[in-house]
Amino acid sequence: MSSMSPADNLALEKALAIKPEEIIDEITESGLRGLGGAGFPVGRKWRTVREARSDKKFVICNAEEGEPGTFKDRYLIENFPEMVIEGVLIAMHAVGAKQSYIYLRREYGKGYESLKKAVRGFPPGLIKKFGSPEVTLWKGPGGYICGEESALIESISGRRAEPQSRPPYPTEAGLFGHPTLINNVETLANVPLIFNMGAEKYRESFKKIFCVSGDVKKRGIYKAAPGVTLRELVFNHADGMKSAKRFKLALVGGVSGRVFSSDDLDLKLDYELFGNGAIIVLDESRSLRDTILNIAEFFAEESCGKCAPCRQGTSRFEAILKRKYKNKDGSKDMEVLKLLSTVMKDTSLCGLGRTATNVFDDIVKKFGQEVLMTS
Ligand code: SF4
Repeated sequence: MSSMSPADNLALEKALAIKPEEIIDEITESGLRGLGGAGFPVGRKWRTVREARSDKKFVICNAEEGEPGTFKDRYLIENFPEMVIEGVLIAMHAVGAKQSYIYLRREYGKGYESLKKAVRGFPPGLIKKFGSPEVTLWKGPGGYICGEESALIESISGRRAEPQSRPPYPTEAGLFGHPTLINNVETLANVPLIFNMGAEKYRESFKKIFCVSGDVKKRGIYKAAPGVTLRELVFNHADGMKSAKRFKLALVGGVSGRVFSSDDLDLKLDYELFGNGAIIVLDESRSLRDTILNIAEFFAEESCGKCAPCRQGTSRFEAILKRKYKNKDGSKDMEVLKLLSTVMKDTSLCGLGRTATNVFDDIVKKFGQEVLMTS
């Protein structure tokens, strides 16, 4: 990955020289959207926090990268920590926040050190001119659910990391009840680029980071414009399959994402499809029923247990799959699994429960329910 370059604080200087509203106009003009998976327009989110009435506001950079198959945020904070910090500082200036947190995945020790060094390395004069904002590095307790916005806020507040119902949204009443802007690492790392290049040039040349892993020759991080196809990512960027075995499927957006079969290789990956940018590739030797079971075990383990549809649903799903695989019967079980999947999607409190069975649904739809018994 090449086009990111270390920050020289120029973007921050430029942003400080204009009014906060003008910064938000520039971000809006750039077309930047949330790159953690949601794809929400960043300018709109910043404006909501800017316009919220409160004597205190916060910015949180979400670096709790818990989705299997994603490692781009780790790459950015380890290699371009100044850009992340600069993005945080510009966001603070734009929304009117004096305090910010970078919420890091516990395992990202090297990233933590890089960020710490980068925070200390900002010129004191510039920071003073900026009103001496506070940037706190915060290590999460660990767990997939800590990356969910409201759970992350609970965690910083000293409570158990459990998702909360919305509304209110964090932009209205977030950390300690104050308006809070939450953006992920990749989103904030793009902010200095907008000020260095200008919104129009940035918009025309924007590239998203994809994490390609699994059965490809060159696993890694690749930048490509939205609209890139899976074929280009797998066969050009990642240099194709690692053995003579053919491509079977890819989990686009990680284990909570969607399944792309070989029929989908030429679909254009846009915001609605690429999610967080994780692409996990499986070759024809992989067992689909093992894939489904691994994912079911993962979500049963990671469910926080707060709401019944997910707490019961994920563990029942895992248990039924295991029983079905053992007994090798099961049209009745299949109906129950499908029903459970629908109920979890419709009634779970947060994204974990609502997406835990996406891969199961897609595999059954694309490959037929027989794969659960035979492959
Ligand atoms: S859906 Fe799952 S992870 Fe989310 S609140 Fe409910 S139990 Fe917790």
